[in-house]
Amino acid sequence: MYGMIDGTGFEVLAPSFQSCLIGHARVERLWTGARWAEGPAWFAAGRYLVWSDIPNNRMLRFDDTDGSVSVFRQPSNNSNGNTVDREGRLVTCEHLARRVTRTEHDGSITVIADRFEGKRFNSPNDVVVKSDGSIWFTDPDYGILIDYEGQRAESEMGACHVYRADPDGRITRVADDYVKPNGLAFSPDERMLYIADTGASHIKDGPAHIRRHAVGEDGTLSRGEVLAECTAGLFDGFRVDREGRIWSSAADGVHCLTPEGQLIGKILIPEMVSNVCFGGPRLNRLFICGTTSLYSAFLAVNGISPIGS
Ligand code: MG
Repeated sequence: MYGMIDGTGFEVLAPSFQSCLIGHARVERLWTGARWAEGPAWFAAGRYLVWSDIPNNRMLRFDDTDGSVSVFRQPSNNSNGNTVDREGRLVTCEHLARRVTRTEHDGSITVIADRFEGKRFNSPNDVVVKSDGSIWFTDPDYGILIDYEGQRAESEMGACHVYRADPDGRITRVADDYVKPNGLAFSPDERMLYIADTGASHIKDGPAHIRRHAVGEDGTLSRGEVLAECTAGLFDGFRVDREGRIWSSAADGVHCLTPEGQLIGKILIPEMVSNVCFGGPRLNRLFICGTTSLYSAFLAVNGISPIGS
């Protein structure tokens, strides 16, 4: 299924986006057959990508050595966002178990966070690990609203917030003024944390933007401001490249934003995009989860290694 496919392309909205592109590179569809693909994470040592197929309660693995796709974990507790920590371990948000876990080097699973102040989380959605080992995650209620991506349940929290789990196990609420916090990523110097709010998915005129917060030395966040409003659907998951550009999911593909929030170009995808991740040995290949399919595009930019460079 490699090759050029209908509905894909690159849309240059500002000259600076041209330098992000490779002239003859094309969007590839690597695999299809998911119901709602999410949470891509690249494992450099093994040269594979893991991602979630949330409604099918499984995680899949794309093997870069031969292009094959296989089931990585099933059941997956309706896993959603995934990332890799500083030691190369998988960190996963699980809707059904309403927790964040880490898969250890021996394959065992450690619970990082499943409640705060005695209350269960809603359904952790997306996660990022800072270089100090702290694990930051969002907790909207998509996994408990209906039975499709988890299991319908009452919210014990009563709202949707953002949290930080420190290496010593302590959990702190770092933002409490989001409607439905979703994707999140740090700037290359980790002085900024970007967080998407997808509140418009269920609330008319609700938020559909990414906010930017300054990260304090003590791990607190500034109140932050809106960095960019989404011009096509919602910003769900996203990643930041080495130059600080934000590559975000949107309804019509991937939107590339400058660190100042200007939309400079798009990678057009014929399905709604949920999340992206840089991978490949040089981190110059953007893997794109688009509803039923996994896509990729080689770019003239590089992602940030989650385990340091
Ligand atoms: Mg998400």
